[in-house]
Amino acid sequence: MRANQARLDLDALRHNLAHARSLAPAAKAMCVVKANGYGHGALTIARALEPLTDALAVACIEEALELRSGGITCPILLLEGVFEANELPLASEQNFWLMIDNRQQLEWLEQAELATPVTCWLKIDTGMHRLGVVAEDAAEFHERLMACANRTGELVTCTHFASADELDNNQTERQISLFNKITADFSGPRSAANSPGVLGWPDAHYEWIRPGYMLYGNSPFPKPHPNTEALLPVMTLASAVISIRDVEAGEAVGYAASWTAERPSKIATVCIGYGDGYPRLATNGTPVLVNGRRAPLAGRVSMDMITIDVTDLDDVSIGDEVVLWGPELTAGEVATHAQTIGYELTTRMPERTPRVIIAP
Ligand SMILES: *Cc1c(COP(=O)(O)O)cnc(C)c1O
Repeated sequence: MRANQARLDLDALRHNLAHARSLAPAAKAMCVVKANGYGHGALTIARALEPLTDALAVACIEEALELRSGGITCPILLLEGVFEANELPLASEQNFWLMIDNRQQLEWLEQAELATPVTCWLKIDTGMHRLGVVAEDAAEFHERLMACANRTGELVTCTHFASADELDNNQTERQISLFNKITADFSGPRSAANSPGVLGWPDAHYEWIRPGYMLYGNSPFPKPHPNTEALLPVMTLASAVISIRDVEAGEAVGYAASWTAERPSKIATVCIGYGDGYPRLATNGTPVLVNGRRAPLAGRVSMDMITIDVTDLDDVSIGDEVVLWGPELTAGEVATHAQTIGYELTTRMPERTPRVIIAP
């Protein structure tokens, strides 16, 4: 068998949620498990979080139905609402909460014939300009939703930040003040904070926080931040050395000969590639851990393999463990070598790589 594993530490997951709650103790927590739990496995993550969270959130009804089929009973918010009116009866039957972010969704809800009314969140566009109701329409939407017979429970008003991971960017302050202004006369709870909002913007905590990425143990900030020190990465992506060879100075390694040995070198081949979730754009020098020690990627990432320069490491043998990211080397750091962010690295983890729970 190939040694590849995406090991999941569910204690770390629970710890990260507790950390989010400790930063926003007055708020309820909605844990975001969209995109297969950021690639970790939606059901595994949802089962671990369900006893500890107030609600879960996913991107679409298919993801919510997968959780229900797996036995998850807590409220699940569809972050983008419904895409078609005919999802509404199913959503009401399954106790899915609905985001209302445009006039079409509002009209579908008003006109639907539902056996049970649904809980709704109203999304306001305060500057992200992707989804949500513009400031001028917010009061009308709020009023119509409050009056809508197909709606039940508290109406949560929410918004989403565009730049909360940049702590010196004042866009977040502008979004918060616009959100405060728009919602000043609304009854009901409010919500704004994604992970960077929870970690770095206490004024944005309101009554509901919506952490995603931080639950998986990674920092959304490019720079160190005191509130991210407690985070524990949930996923360790591990593989193993399957071949070792000496190459002479001047010899190149891998497709397109993109790395050339500057000295007599020892190259270890590891059985993980872009078909297993390791980013193809990772450049020469991207760190990996061989037996816990850092060594640089040497040569292009192949579909099933990578090559590592282990010249400076003693005692590397076939079968030795290689960690691509985990607690000692964050997905965020690896991502900086691959023109992406840690979010994408875990989220793109394919089925091919087995998820193995190491702390249940
Ligand atoms: C994905 C998402 C979140 C979670 O964001 P993170 O940065 O992963 O914490 C919160 N709210 C909305 C609307 C989202 O789409």
